[in-house]
Amino acid sequence: MKFSEMPYQRLDREETEAAMHSLTQRQKEAPGGEEQFEIHREYYKLNDHIRTCRTLAIIRHDINTADEYYEKEQKFYDEVRPVLENLDNEYHKVLWESPYRSYLEEKIGSVAFKNMELDFKAMDEKLIPLMQEENALASRYSKLIASAEISFNGEICNLSRMGKFMSDTNRDVRRQAWKAVSDYFMSITGEIDNIYDEMVKNRTEQARQLGYENYIPLGYCRMHRNSYGQKEVENFRRQVKEYIVPLATKIHENRRKRLGLEKLSYIDNNMFFADGNPEPEGTPEEILAKGQEMYRELSPETREFFDFMMENELLDVLGRKNKVQGGYMDYLPEFESPFIFANFNGTSGDVDVITHECGHAFQGYLVRKEEIQEYLDITMETAEIHSMAMEYFTEKWMEQFFGSRAEDYRLMHLEDGICFVPYGCMVDEFQHIVYEHPELTPAERKDVWKKLEQEYRPHMNYEDDPFFGNGGWWQRQGHIFQNPFYYIDYCLSTVCALQYKMKMDLNYKEAWESYLALCRISARKFYVPMLEEAGLKNPFADGCIQELVEHFEKLVL
Ligand code: ZN
Repeated sequence: MKFSEMPYQRLDREETEAAMHSLTQRQKEAPGGEEQFEIHREYYKLNDHIRTCRTLAIIRHDINTADEYYEKEQKFYDEVRPVLENLDNEYHKVLWESPYRSYLEEKIGSVAFKNMELDFKAMDEKLIPLMQEENALASRYSKLIASAEISFNGEICNLSRMGKFMSDTNRDVRRQAWKAVSDYFMSITGEIDNIYDEMVKNRTEQARQLGYENYIPLGYCRMHRNSYGQKEVENFRRQVKEYIVPLATKIHENRRKRLGLEKLSYIDNNMFFADGNPEPEGTPEEILAKGQEMYRELSPETREFFDFMMENELLDVLGRKNKVQGGYMDYLPEFESPFIFANFNGTSGDVDVITHECGHAFQGYLVRKEEIQEYLDITMETAEIHSMAMEYFTEKWMEQFFGSRAEDYRLMHLEDGICFVPYGCMVDEFQHIVYEHPELTPAERKDVWKKLEQEYRPHMNYEDDPFFGNGGWWQRQGHIFQNPFYYIDYCLSTVCALQYKMKMDLNYKEAWESYLALCRISARKFYVPMLEEAGLKNPFADGCIQELVEHFEKLVL
């Protein structure tokens, strides 16, 4: 069904709450596992309905914020969401405590039960006031960042607009842009310090009320870390320091030569070529059409997927007035339809939507007939493999988007991917130190960051910038505030996507088959067994990163 024809009706709140209560009650009274599973199927249906109504309302609001009808609808879902989540928890507690659990575990998987356990370990009603305060602190941070008004080049810019000037081909423009952003952050760094200080204390208090020593184990539960812990993550970061940091240092030295600079500075951080980074050719409509051609050639599965997306208006990617900024992919279960939302702006980010977001959507499409919803409940380090690997599988077609600069694009993409990993690990290690030592002062936190910069990004030269040069960089990284411990997921998935890149260099078809298998396994298995079944190596294990580095050293140097 076309997106514009999908019928919408507000979720009936009373009816839904009553239905949830009734399902929970019937689960309690069910005489056996089989009966419980039958009731659970009704739960799936109800859950699909709730999700479809809500998602439809949110998307229609995001594509036209001037539409008052959907604005009201969105507010309605904001309001009922916590209530429904609470009912959902009560329902799952009955499954968790079921005398027929082993039967259910066979039906919906052991990953599902592990995730329920983590949810129970991470939540208690007594935490609600602290969690509300935590949300308010996160909103304070995002408002502060979103409301930035920086006067530059005769216009008033927000931070995302400044990003364009910060990677301007003209180095003087670049320098002034970085300086303007640094000045802006100097003016708010005290407030960000205060917000973060309160956040760290708040999260630590939540953890202590649940009996944890500090926030780290609680943060891991909330991220659904169902199959690895702090030790594995530490071993991953150790290998990144040992193998990827030296390779990244060489890549930056190459960049310096390409840019024709005597010395690389932090203002050159996003620059890959002296004549500017590659940008796509053609109008947004043409980029979309080229995307369709590409997916038709890539495989029968992607052909069916992208044709379906285009036919049913499931890509709203053109910039328009009254459209919310940013981009995402979501899923409408009752219509078995992924949906991609974006704002094309003429940069290589537009192509990322066609490759990265479509990777997420493709996986959603591939498993749309899966009945067991728990199998689709993937964690972020897995979801990001689907998208990041697709970026590499589609590289062959980059001539269509970047013309004569396709080779430049591929080099930039690979270098950027490799150099991201040390940065991501630094964000992760920083948070471990911060939550292990909640007593640190804001100044001491900045010193921690400064020291980590030397370990993970020894090439960084901050000249004498008073903000970036004094351990301030992390204050621009929203995940640190909004999604603690999320960042390592991107590093793990980059390492897996690079494994696919290495595989396709050897045999593209075999790599693709492995990717399809990985997308289909989803959360049927825990992380490492899932990777192994698809033929990928465990990124935590010794040797995985070293092997990658040896392969890519030859390609980028
Ligand atoms: Zn993604």
